[in-house]
Amino acid sequence: MTENLTTYSMVIDGKAAAAASTFPVFNPATGKVVAMAPNGAAADLDRAVAAAGRAFLGWSRTSDAERAAACAAITQKLGEHAEELAALITQEQGKPLNGVGSRFEMGGVQAWAGHTASLSLPMKVLQDDNQGRVEMYRKPLGVVGSITPWNWPALIATWHILPAVRTGNTVVAKPSPYTPLSTLRMVELMNEVLPPGVVNVVSCDDTTNNLGAAMAAHPGIRKIVFTGSCATGSRVMMTAAETMKRLTLELGGNDAGIVLPDVNPQAIAEGLFWGAFINMGQTCAAMKRLYVHEDVHDAVCEALVEYTRKIPVGDGMDETSILGPVANRMQFDKVKRLVDDARGRGRVLLGGTPGDGLFFNPTIIAGLNNGDLLVDEEQFGPALPVIKYRDVEDAIAQANASENGLGGSVWSADIDRAREIAKRMECGSVWVNKHGAIQPNAPFGGVKKSGLGVEFGEEGLQEYTDIQVVYS
Ligand code: NAD
Repeated sequence: MTENLTTYSMVIDGKAAAAASTFPVFNPATGKVVAMAPNGAAADLDRAVAAAGRAFLGWSRTSDAERAAACAAITQKLGEHAEELAALITQEQGKPLNGVGSRFEMGGVQAWAGHTASLSLPMKVLQDDNQGRVEMYRKPLGVVGSITPWNWPALIATWHILPAVRTGNTVVAKPSPYTPLSTLRMVELMNEVLPPGVVNVVSCDDTTNNLGAAMAAHPGIRKIVFTGSCATGSRVMMTAAETMKRLTLELGGNDAGIVLPDVNPQAIAEGLFWGAFINMGQTCAAMKRLYVHEDVHDAVCEALVEYTRKIPVGDGMDETSILGPVANRMQFDKVKRLVDDARGRGRVLLGGTPGDGLFFNPTIIAGLNNGDLLVDEEQFGPALPVIKYRDVEDAIAQANASENGLGGSVWSADIDRAREIAKRMECGSVWVNKHGAIQPNAPFGGVKKSGLGVEFGEEGLQEYTDIQVVYS
């Protein structure tokens, strides 16, 4: 059955590398196998880390201008292949080509890669007087291990790889077993412009081989940049302690939106919809709980349901689809479990029942409260709980009553008041009258259990370096 399927390769030391076995990658819209991916073993990881270690000797000594030029060349190369990569993302992940889908994701790849190319961390003179000169340098760490999730595979790989390379590190990337293909292809393309060994990629099925766990323990890796669930992130942190690795952990969120009584429900419906249902809700900083003041509760629910009802859901390769299926069976089952539990507790305003295969139409359930599973757990899928409130102080307290603290939002006609409430929310990013709109020049990261460290901008770049102070 697999003879006619393409088998993708890992890239180690600038060359295509096959694994001893392969595993299938499924299209969530059709259930069919898209291609076979390499099921790399520990020895493959060792070879990739060794290659990255050798490449570091040269790459870390290249000039800042050379590395900026290499990152710009990667940006251009990925741009030239954007349509090919978008089709691959749609097939392995499910998000449509259109809407806020895979072409949008490739637009993000361009924006982030290009911006990262333009950043730099020049030496700082801390003192220069008759007492002496003190210079502070930002030095690359060595081999960086990148571990990525399945929701925005190409974009998140870009967030990890480009800043590492820009600052003089070398990389071993490991994509999610659900969506390895776009990352394998991207690294192949990067190797057309980089010296061998600077960026390597391995992949595995996570059951017979778990290279993510092996990376966290690997003595040849100096830093792990990990994006994924809180549970796995904690495990990475525990394992990495042994070798004192640097860590950036971008973990789960359970973002709250708070709607104040002065909103125009029709005017905010589109923003609420995309805040919650971008990528079928499978976005770290999507709005996962919506607190609405009782004065506007029914009107906001009605406007949101009306807007959501019109969105075409279907196979992402169909140019008319705006939302696709849930990305994999594991996530589908989780969403179904939480919606089944919520159905008995609240009022289903839209959706609520699964479609064919992995399709699950956007679901909106009102009448829920903190303490209900769909409110307390990260659903990471197309099901939004709506919670009615009377007192804004209560809404803020309920929004903050979470172990997570990734994003949040406040919706109001009074921007100043909204900004004051935004600042009281316990999360790394807060938006007014929108949700989840990240950008490459603003640091992004979670507080509480949503992670450690930030990505993007100069602050994000600094995380790929150690400080060295030279006194002379
Ligand atoms: P996951 O934790 O299951 O997997 C993430 C990655 O870790 C995958 O590559 C996986 O193969 C790898 N992995 C598996 N076992 C490992 C181990 N023992 N050690 C090291 N790595 C291991 O997460 P997921 O289901 O792929 O992603 C969904 C989660 O990611 C959600 O919670 C979401 O909120 C979060 N997320 C966060 C951000 C952010 O920026 N904060 C962005 C996207 C997704």
